[in-house]
Amino acid sequence: MAAAPQDLTVAEVRLTPVLVADPPLLNTHGVHQPYTPRLIIEVITAGGATGLGETYGDTEYLGPARLLADALAGRRVTDLNGLPALADRVCGDSPDTTGADTAHGVDVTTTHAAGLRGTRTAAKLRRSVLAGFEVACLDAWGRATGLPVHALLGGRVRDRVEYGAYLFYRWAAHPGDRGEPDDWGAALDPAGIVAQARRFADRHGFTSFKLKGGVFPPDREIAAIRALAAAFPGQPLRLDPNGAWTVETSLRVADALRDVLEYLEDPASGTDRMARVAAGTPVPLATNMCVTAFEEIPEAFARGAVQVVLGDHHYWGGLRSTRELAALCRTFGVGLAMHSNTHLGISLAAMTQVAATVPDLDHACDTHYPWQAEDVLTERLAFRDGHLDVGDAPGLGVTLDRDRLAALHRRWLADDGTHRSRDDAAAMRRADPGWTVPAVPRW
Ligand SMILES: [Mg+2]
Repeated sequence: MAAAPQDLTVAEVRLTPVLVADPPLLNTHGVHQPYTPRLIIEVITAGGATGLGETYGDTEYLGPARLLADALAGRRVTDLNGLPALADRVCGDSPDTTGADTAHGVDVTTTHAAGLRGTRTAAKLRRSVLAGFEVACLDAWGRATGLPVHALLGGRVRDRVEYGAYLFYRWAAHPGDRGEPDDWGAALDPAGIVAQARRFADRHGFTSFKLKGGVFPPDREIAAIRALAAAFPGQPLRLDPNGAWTVETSLRVADALRDVLEYLEDPASGTDRMARVAAGTPVPLATNMCVTAFEEIPEAFARGAVQVVLGDHHYWGGLRSTRELAALCRTFGVGLAMHSNTHLGISLAAMTQVAATVPDLDHACDTHYPWQAEDVLTERLAFRDGHLDVGDAPGLGVTLDRDRLAALHRRWLADDGTHRSRDDAAAMRRADPGWTVPAVPRW
């Protein structure tokens, strides 16, 4: 006789904000703070299965997350199609805060129309919150039924997912030696970037390399990419200045690097500038800034502004929405890869599960994970030959380490608020008191 089905009703939801050590990685807004916030979500079913999710932990996400957690109790973890409407209803349909990027130190009253993740709206924030809950529900569902998350998404089409090295200009340590030390040293010139790439390749087997740019004047960053091309001939290279350049500068950089770039990522800010750059260069343009939500697709695709969308299940609203994005990209002949914000192993496992189900994933996914020495899992995910294997363990296939979770939560509790919302400009002011987020275009 068949066993009775598990009770998949949500009995409890636990939310645990944590602060995770982050190295002094530079970008056009400033520098990463010594600690960065993440939110760990546990969805517990009446049948006793616990599912894990992870999303942004900045203060502005915590209120909506609490409201959604309360509303989830009594629903089944399989009721995923109703989650967006539930989030809209319980988290409030507040007016769009267009232009706001409080998580990245952008003042809404200035002329900075876009942060590092593009134009921010209340709806996008809600989708990032619900993405963490969707992942936790899928994990609980999988654990209760013995199925991996990729099976709940229709099954995997590949056994492993490729990731690329995410290279950053960086300091050896945070100003004032705050935060947790590491042994990477500074990387502020082409030789430093090549050494960093070599270490990533040796340690994790990555064969494609992305440099976070927009930090130095473009000629210095062109020199760094040239040095990478010389050190790793024929291997995929990308440069991402987070929209810091004018159309003219973007075209000049594209021309200078046209023979070595896999793609140029967000050279200029906004769909209009991106479309003008795309019209003037054969180098493909990728984005995680001007196309970050379904409503931004029609204009960008119609104008040919982007050739690769960097999906991110957090801000696209979950793993199933990411598959919908993949279908749209396929329909319009636009490539798909994956963006990464600073994240832990739960989100990396979720990225890997959905990436395994998407047929046309033609580029290595981004990940910050190697920069995060801390995690909340009993066992870190390990890259092999630049890939993560896609297993058949139930759910996400990862296990929460409660002691680690508690320790990182205690750090969050003890924080005076300095690190509870990411603010790269504030971190930069520790070294340069007069620093403000540069207006774009910067160069
Ligand atoms: Mg980017």
